[in-house]
Amino acid sequence: MTSSVLTNDFVKLWNQIASAAHEALERVGQSGQVILGNEVASFEREIAQRTSRLHGIGVANGLEAIEIALVAAGLKPGDGVITTPMSAFATTLAIVRAQGVPIFVDVDKEGLLDLSLVPVAVGSHPHARFIVPVHLYGFPLNLADLKEVCLRHKLVCVEDCAQALGATWNDEVVGSVGCSAALSFYPTKNLGALGDAGAIVTSDHRMNECIRSLRDYGQTGKYKHDLLGYNSRLDEVHAAILLTALLPSLDKWTGRRREIAHAYLSGIQNHHIRIPTPPRESNPVWHLFPVLVHQPLRDEFRSFLSQRNIMTGVHYPFLACDQPAMRDIRFGTVGSLTNARRFAAEQVSLPIHPFLTDEEIEHVVTEVNSWNPVQGS
Ligand SMILES: *Cc1c(COP(=O)(O)O)cnc(C)c1O
Repeated sequence: MTSSVLTNDFVKLWNQIASAAHEALERVGQSGQVILGNEVASFEREIAQRTSRLHGIGVANGLEAIEIALVAAGLKPGDGVITTPMSAFATTLAIVRAQGVPIFVDVDKEGLLDLSLVPVAVGSHPHARFIVPVHLYGFPLNLADLKEVCLRHKLVCVEDCAQALGATWNDEVVGSVGCSAALSFYPTKNLGALGDAGAIVTSDHRMNECIRSLRDYGQTGKYKHDLLGYNSRLDEVHAAILLTALLPSLDKWTGRRREIAHAYLSGIQNHHIRIPTPPRESNPVWHLFPVLVHQPLRDEFRSFLSQRNIMTGVHYPFLACDQPAMRDIRFGTVGSLTNARRFAAEQVSLPIHPFLTDEEIEHVVTEVNSWNPVQGS
């Protein structure tokens, strides 16, 4: 194998979408409308439909999608927001920027927020009013349990679906359970734009109006500002490219990710490596393919693969609550976050982007199976 097996391949992507992307750009130019035009409106309808929602609202990125969704859901400064410390830092950053107080709960054996600990979090943090669960790696949380725990503890739920558009639990799609859900179209995501983009979906009409106003300086009519809002609009050009160059291939790309995941799940056999396997009710979209390698062998495993031209990632090496940026920020924790710390120390992401060739997939399986840390690399 001469060329590297990459974790993402943006050039292959471009070569597949170039002519459709040029067409989309031309359409926007000819329309004379470059902000909040028909392309954004059409893309919003598609995204709402794919998450079984009545409304989709395009915003500038996933971070602001979470922040604006929380503000629109009525978060007040000091409200507790239950979440996971094992996620992109943006999840926590959005909560802090919205002036919520993150309450970090440990993760389960797949690395997802452990819903069975939510009652403990509510018991020890009476100001907890919100929950931001993350469908990490493209694995859906148990949506039935999520709904139940929110109902029982009167928690307002904003789902972080940045990694999981299209993932289902018992045929119910992620993003359809909370009062709203946040999506990111950051280039590495399963539906990745040619730049930054995001969206919020909801079925609540009032929340829809509020989010539309918040993303556009808090305007409720021309030059009339009822709210202190943001400039967080989704660009018309990005919406046009997402709509006709990227979205039509999403199902095909997700199908390919599932094929690769299947090949890894059935092909990888190495007792030094544990693969978190999602339960049967879950149909993940495999944003990432996480494996766990016992501490302190992770670096050795990664450099072994890198020497064989296989790139890997770590998602994520630090917990949100341990980040230096959180030093002077108020937050709560439940228990000692043992599982989350194990993920931070042991997780490795194998390549799983949809443009991997069969040969590359086989190469990954063969090399992962041949790794034997006892003999060294
Ligand atoms: C990418 C990501 C975000 C942030 O999205 P941006 O568009 O990069 O701002 C938030 N949460 C999770 C889980 C993510 O993976």
